Amino acid sequence: MEIVRYPDPCLRRRNAPVERFDTELEALAREMFQAMYRTGGVGLAAPQVGVNRRLLVYNPTGKAEESAEERVLCNPRIAWKAREKESGEEGCLSFPGIYAQVLRPVGVRVEALDLSGEPLALELSGWEARVFLHEYDHLDGILFIDRMSPADRLAVKPRLEELEAAWKEARTGS
Ligand SMILES: [Zn+2]
Repeated sequence: MEIVRYPDPCLRRRNAPVERFDTELEALAREMFQAMYRTGGVGLAAPQVGVNRRLLVYNPTGKAEESAEERVLCNPRIAWKAREKESGEEGCLSFPGIYAQVLRPVGVRVEALDLSGEPLALELSGWEARVFLHEYDHLDGILFIDRMSPADRLAVKPRLEELEAAWKEARTGS
């Protein structure tokens, strides 16, 4: 399973709700975790692997051996978010080599379905809330560059241009 990189159009497409809770979905989530651990990430959204569905996985520890911390959320919904925000550093597996400060709510209440289609509710704060909110944005086609300050956006521009050039080159097969 390959992680698509910016500016792949998959990252901006509309994501349809998950409707079938079957072994195929389970396998997809498992493969997403494997791709995430392999690349040193803490979260991954389905559009990042070219699947335009409202599914995300994360493990705030980023460690495969801490499997109790793994979360798979289908069709997540933000039921509440804290008014208070804090800034923290983020990266994204679709933007290798780019890190920047992003302002996020300090806490969030989430409703979602698990892999069996059973409802679950989570109360997240701090780092875990940040990880979730980053992945949740992907389901709405929102990327962390959209949330950077104008100054940070300017600072990462050369690297974005490199990614754009690499993507074009890969597409033309040269
Ligand atoms: Zn991301």
